[in-house]
Amino acid sequence: MTLLELKDVTAFYGPVQVLEGVSLTVPDGGAVGILGANGAGKTTTLRAISGTVRAGGSILFEGKDIRGSKPEKVAAMGIAHVPEGRGTLGGLTVRENLRVGAYLRRDRKGIESDIEYCLDLFPQLRDRIRSNGSALSGGEQQMLAVARAIMAKPRLLLLDEASLGLAPSTAKSVYEAIGRLRRESGIAMLVVEQNANLAFTLVDSATVLETGHNAITGSTAELRGMDEIRRAYLGG
Ligand code: ATP
Repeated sequence: MTLLELKDVTAFYGPVQVLEGVSLTVPDGGAVGILGANGAGKTTTLRAISGTVRAGGSILFEGKDIRGSKPEKVAAMGIAHVPEGRGTLGGLTVRENLRVGAYLRRDRKGIESDIEYCLDLFPQLRDRIRSNGSALSGGEQQMLAVARAIMAKPRLLLLDEASLGLAPSTAKSVYEAIGRLRRESGIAMLVVEQNANLAFTLVDSATVLETGHNAITGSTAELRGMDEIRRAYLGG
């Protein structure tokens, strides 16, 4: 079953059109990547979905057109956005950040057991549970940003450049944890990532954006087999 479908999505920043017709499909429980050069429109595509930029075209979530919905409403429908730059709350502790992630939920027991699950998924956060967000390393902040999104109990996770600025070993362990989350929770994922080698460990298929539209779409295996993808994204 299709969970999310974008058809010919357009977006503008003021008079400048940055998305010229992006189409993609995320199956229920699936994971799809968005690749592309700087400025191709990857981040804007996620923003169009989460309602933080005005978009044209259609954005169907569980069959309903959510285009134009306010960000709070999109979140309440089950879409959690982990933005580039993470957006963790520096003045709150790790535990408080996790509670903030669950602000729309009322199931106190479920919230506590999901906090436990997050700390199990990211053991480094358990060691830092009373630390302020601002005292965390970049890798720990990224883990917290993902964990906070999990706390909303989403059906779809929008993940923007989770590896950005992290040491390779840290980026790998963040992606391993997200892969485990995917296997255990069945949360669907739409993943923007510069590092295609890392993205391909997680996603089943991907689309490559070029100046605001889809250039190539295929399964991970198909994309790995293409010379142009190998040259541009897989380092040889
Ligand atoms: P990056 O990896 O650099 O984030 P991206 O593929 O995610 O690249 P977007 O961030 O979606 O690209 O940006 C697409 C285009 O829109 C770029 O040309 C960018 O300069 C422009 N842009 C992004 N944000 C804004 C904004 N708030 N106002 C005006 N232009 C913007």
